[in-house]
Amino acid sequence: MMTVSSPAKLFINAIYRATEGEGALVGRPQIFVRVQGCAIGCANCDSKDTWEFEQGFASDITAVLAQIEDLSLKKLKRVSITGGDPLHPKHVPGVLQLVRELKARKFFVSLEAAGTRIVHEIFDLVDFINFDFKPPSTLIETKPSLIVQLAEQYEGKFQLKSVAQDAKDFSAILAAYQLVEKDLKRSITFDWCITPIYNPGESFPLERFKLILNLNENAGGYFRVIGQQHKWVHGPNEKLV
Ligand code: SF4
Repeated sequence: MMTVSSPAKLFINAIYRATEGEGALVGRPQIFVRVQGCAIGCANCDSKDTWEFEQGFASDITAVLAQIEDLSLKKLKRVSITGGDPLHPKHVPGVLQLVRELKARKFFVSLEAAGTRIVHEIFDLVDFINFDFKPPSTLIETKPSLIVQLAEQYEGKFQLKSVAQDAKDFSAILAAYQLVEKDLKRSITFDWCITPIYNPGESFPLERFKLILNLNENAGGYFRVIGQQHKWVHGPNEKLV
């Protein structure tokens, strides 16, 4: 049993083992720590059950580590911290302590960042950052200046991820890409993945997928178009997979 002196509290929605279904880490088995609480409010969020910040979800880091240890079977040393919004100020002390403890135990730690803020004390410690650029269908704005900052300070340890609904989303992602390149004054070398959205309750969105593939090819192929593999395997409504 792992113990931590003065353990911080973290709001937890779920801790589970699954294979990564999106982005450049697709196919990697990981233990997911899904934080409870998000104030961002993306219109097309498929995890609305993670929005509320409720005391009932509070768990101390020692208990979180014990669950991770059980799921890892002492072999799987990869953890993904996701949400909710793990970088909301209410979560930062708990996430920071969790990351420190996991790194001390030689885990590879990746972080799902919603694209609204950079938290250096956490970004400096984790092994990999999945940073969202939110296109218009989310009704949330990601500042391209944050992506420029990431590229300048965290090159080699992050990817951009964008969920796309339609051609309007693709155009906004492309415009952001070009703006970031202009501000960086060099070519983008990090992976920028576009995921054609697969909404809960709908059939596999083949036409949407083909549209985004086609738009990317015609635009110059700047992006990696990667589907949500876990939804192909388990269906779009299944949770904790
Ligand atoms: S940041 Fe994530 S959890 Fe929060 S609303 Fe957006 S998609 Fe949902």
